[in-house]
Amino acid sequence: MSPFDLPERHVLWLEDAPDAPCDPLPDAVDLAIIGGGLAGLSMALHLQAMGVETVVLERAVPAWGASGRNAGHLLAGTSEYYSRAVAVMGRDEARAVWAFTVANQRDFTSFLLGLPQETGFTRSGYLACATTQEERRELEESVALLTEDGFPSEYWSADTLVKRTGRSPFLGARYSPDDGLVHPARTVWALCQAYRSGGGRVRSHCAVKGATNGPLGWTLELEDKGGARAIKASMVVQCTNAWTFELLPRFTDLILPVRGQMVATDRIHKVIPMAMAANFGYEYWRQAPTGEVVLGGWRWSQKEMEIGALSEELNPEIHQGLAAFLRSSFPKLQGVPLRCAWTGTMGFSRDSLPWVGEVPGMQGYFVAAGFTGHGFGLAWRSTACLAEEIVHGRLHGDLAPFRPRRAS
Ligand SMILES: Cc1cc2nc3c(=O)[nH]c(=O)nc-3n(C[C@H](O)[C@H](O)[C@H](O)COP(=O)(O)OP(=O)(O)OC[C@H]3O[C@@H](n4cnc5c(N)ncnc54)[C@H](O)[C@@H]3O)c2cc1C
Repeated sequence: MSPFDLPERHVLWLEDAPDAPCDPLPDAVDLAIIGGGLAGLSMALHLQAMGVETVVLERAVPAWGASGRNAGHLLAGTSEYYSRAVAVMGRDEARAVWAFTVANQRDFTSFLLGLPQETGFTRSGYLACATTQEERRELEESVALLTEDGFPSEYWSADTLVKRTGRSPFLGARYSPDDGLVHPARTVWALCQAYRSGGGRVRSHCAVKGATNGPLGWTLELEDKGGARAIKASMVVQCTNAWTFELLPRFTDLILPVRGQMVATDRIHKVIPMAMAANFGYEYWRQAPTGEVVLGGWRWSQKEMEIGALSEELNPEIHQGLAAFLRSSFPKLQGVPLRCAWTGTMGFSRDSLPWVGEVPGMQGYFVAAGFTGHGFGLAWRSTACLAEEIVHGRLHGDLAPFRPRRAS
């Protein structure tokens, strides 16, 4: 088989999925969480720690969405290079958002390290590599700005890259020592297990079809594997990322579904030392703990087709681009067979910031979504701050840039 032929479609990370949790549903609950991905289960754990009775309603199974299909880069920062974030948001807001992601990384990794389950977390470091001189200049400028703002970051020239990583086609890079890697699906399953072992309920194969508000709170219409039914909840948090628009049509133009595609090689000895990306983050790769090299990206070549795409179909042209990139950038991978490929759909926010807070005009109905390809960098702390808002009944200052109110 040529590397340009499509390999089998399945998700490497989901190969050893546990049985889907299907806990009994109550008729009423204090707070219902829609979506059993990274955001929904993080939300559930924070609220559980604060004594709120919750249930997680998941249309498929935990980690079925983007959370179980990604590269597992656990990074500080957002989807834009810092120099661009500063130009778009201004220095103060860019610094505040970056600091938020640093705090997210600190809190999330310390939580993961305290779990009994293996999540594959390693503080590997991260390299954002330049493929053009323009990108190299932006990375160098970003390192200068980050350093001034007190965030650890180094600029590596092309020579330094070769010395530290072996043969490299890149023109320079930003190195971030505190960034790391997780096994994405195992991380979500570990959150799920931690929540359930504390008494939390997760209902798989339970789709929320609609929400109506009455004097006693919210009624959610469910399509459950046991048939159609309803659940009452005083409050609701919707954590459905790419699918936010389905229950909240007002988000149709604010959070766009954008499909990403990944490919994994067969297992080989260690060739990729850390989390890596190039071309303004459009291409990203790492090596799995079991040895497969995992690469994603190339959607820029098919932009119109990948925006709004929610199906799991592989795009053969994207696959060809990824296969060519693998062969040209990593000579050590010549001849290594490709094991599988898959897609996942992200929720891309128009301003690259997530949407976290109460939905205007919908008292007691909250959203945490639009993580724009950086859920591991944002979701844990976003949901922690939202849990504080809900329990204490006052706005959390750290969520100011992420408020749904900014749409109006
Ligand atoms: C190819 C790819 C690579 C990525 N790489 C990285 C990376 O390296 N680092 C990083 O930080 N981020 C990465 N991301 C982004 C990251 O995966 C997401 O930001 C994160 O997983 C979002 O988590 P979530 O819980 O909000 O959404 P999801 O994981 O998508 O979860 C949403 C859940 O809601 C459920 N749902 C939807 N509608 C309903 C309904 N009506 N009723 C009940 N349930 C419903 C879905 O079934 C799904 O399980 C990548 C994403 C992709 C696709």
